[in-house]
Amino acid sequence: MILADGIVIAWFAGVLLLGFVAFFITILAAIVRLARRVLRSAARLIGPALPTSAGRAGAPAFARLCSRPRCGYLNAGNARFCARCGQPLSG
Ligand SMILES: [Zn+2]
Repeated sequence: MILADGIVIAWFAGVLLLGFVAFFITILAAIVRLARRVLRSAARLIGPALPTSAGRAGAPAFARLCSRPRCGYLNAGNARFCARCGQPLSG
């Protein structure tokens, strides 16, 4: 009986520990995601001084002109789609 109780307690402790680990991993992932989002918005506020994905791709980091002739909207450098007409901004 004592041995069985010990096994039950060990299992319980293990499951509890696993739960805690999973909980902390989830919290950590949420914090990392939030930090990344904050950093990204901060970089957007600072401006084109920091290298963006658009800058690395060779496109101007400050503005991307819409390729649709009737639109020609000047989008932000990190925009992937035109803010006015939704045209994908390639290059
Ligand atoms: Zn457009």
